[in-house]
Amino acid sequence: MLPEHALAELRSALRAERVFDDAATRALYAHDETPRQIEPEAVLFPASHDDVVALARIAFKHRIPLTPRGAGSGNVGGALPAPGSMVVSFECMQRVLEFDPDNRLIVVEAGIVTDEINRIARSAGLFYPPDPGSSAYCRIGGNLAMNAAGPRAVKYGVTRDHVLGLRAVTGSGETIRTGCRTTKGVTGYDLTRLLIGSGGTLALITEATLKLLPAPESIATLRVCYASTRAALDAVGRIMRQPVMPCALEFMDHRAIDAIRPTGTADDLPPDTRALLMVEADGTVQDLPRQIAALEDALAGDGLLDLRSGFNREEIAQLWAARKSLSHAVKRIAPLKINEDVVVPVSLLADFVDFIDHTATTHQLAVVSFGHAGNGNLHINIMVHPDDRDEMARAHRALDAIVQHVLALGGTLSGEHGIGTEKRRFIPQEIDPATLGIMRAIKLQFDPLGLLNPGKLFPD
Ligand SMILES: Cc1cc2nc3c(=O)[nH]c(=O)nc-3n(C[C@H](O)[C@H](O)[C@H](O)COP(=O)(O)OP(=O)(O)OC[C@H]3O[C@@H](n4cnc5c(N)ncnc54)[C@H](O)[C@@H]3O)c2cc1C
Repeated sequence: MLPEHALAELRSALRAERVFDDAATRALYAHDETPRQIEPEAVLFPASHDDVVALARIAFKHRIPLTPRGAGSGNVGGALPAPGSMVVSFECMQRVLEFDPDNRLIVVEAGIVTDEINRIARSAGLFYPPDPGSSAYCRIGGNLAMNAAGPRAVKYGVTRDHVLGLRAVTGSGETIRTGCRTTKGVTGYDLTRLLIGSGGTLALITEATLKLLPAPESIATLRVCYASTRAALDAVGRIMRQPVMPCALEFMDHRAIDAIRPTGTADDLPPDTRALLMVEADGTVQDLPRQIAALEDALAGDGLLDLRSGFNREEIAQLWAARKSLSHAVKRIAPLKINEDVVVPVSLLADFVDFIDHTATTHQLAVVSFGHAGNGNLHINIMVHPDDRDEMARAHRALDAIVQHVLALGGTLSGEHGIGTEKRRFIPQEIDPATLGIMRAIKLQFDPLGLLNPGKLFPD
């Protein structure tokens, strides 16, 4: 229970309609995409940077933890309320504060939906490259906190690569500004990169100055079927060894293909397809055919079964249909998805997928793998029945083995989903005690009372 006088102070500082502690609202904000639920004590809806400063100061005074929240689409429990906390929802902070096409930048509040940024940028022939699959509803604050990315990361990089500066509020309610408005700048420590990916544990991000790029004139898509995983991932290696950089290089394994067969979206794949690549290129109208020819050359090789190309919106949508149907299709396998998002060096991806197959077989589990092959970032979905204790135990043993193998290959725990509550137990396996000690000390500088998103990122 929150102290009544703390609630009264919040209602006076933010206005009453921005502070909710009724049961229905608390239930609505009790979870993100992970299955666990923890009801917050209250949900706050700040409408401006000053509101965020005010609520952080009141929380600091009364030592109340805060759980920042964008759209709640995160799948590692990042926005899962900490017990006893108040959720800070940024959904009422969606303003575009400045759009400056001449300097190719846009300044937005943290609650703006990612696709909206692109809609505005494209009106001036520009675009914001990071493209998480949830971009139609996730918010830039969540993307920044998780360093979100999508298929375009292979060519354009991740959220961190497209941010010039941030405005944020620390755990004691102080306003900080990081970075600058120019594309070059080396004044002081790079706190922008530090805050990005910090999972809401260092500061409440209120505004972001984002870097925009000229939108590509045209785009073309290749859907390529192979007789084996090894054949598909050998082709990925050939693509990465030649100079044309695709703007998407996505992989689906044979279990993913089996999963989508009942949906009908795989009807036009050759029946013996065991792996699928989606490859995209973008550029000028004149240059695109050259790029596609080079990519087709690299994709040709042993085990190639079928290659189809699409050059207009309808053709491209049709080629992506199989891949896009996957998220829903896997839900038919089992009710719970344990979703890993590990990364290994691209050159070791084929060996790693063999290891996943072996692990699935030895632990008798349904494991569906797909992901951003060009970054070595694989989404490993272990499909389980939460009531089946034996299956759950096998899944956790498999998970431990997978994490150990990823780290042994020189990989990392998370490519884009972040750590949240779900992966923090693995952190000491990747980060040594001295480095983790510095991270904890940095956390204390930003958040002296440990009120910002407690229970996330750091192991107990
Ligand atoms: C169908 C689907 C597809 C997805 N595809 C991708 C994908 O391709 N790539 C990818 O990277 N992710 C993907 N995700 C995961 C998720 O959408 C991303 O992590 C996204 O960035 C989360 O944004 P959100 O607004 O929902 O944030 P939330 O889930 O609400 O929060 C995420 C984290 O950010 C923190 N946070 C939110 N706002 C702020 C703020 N203003 N200041 C400080 N901290 C804040 C929260 O505390 C939490 O730790 C997908 C999820 C789904 C459901």
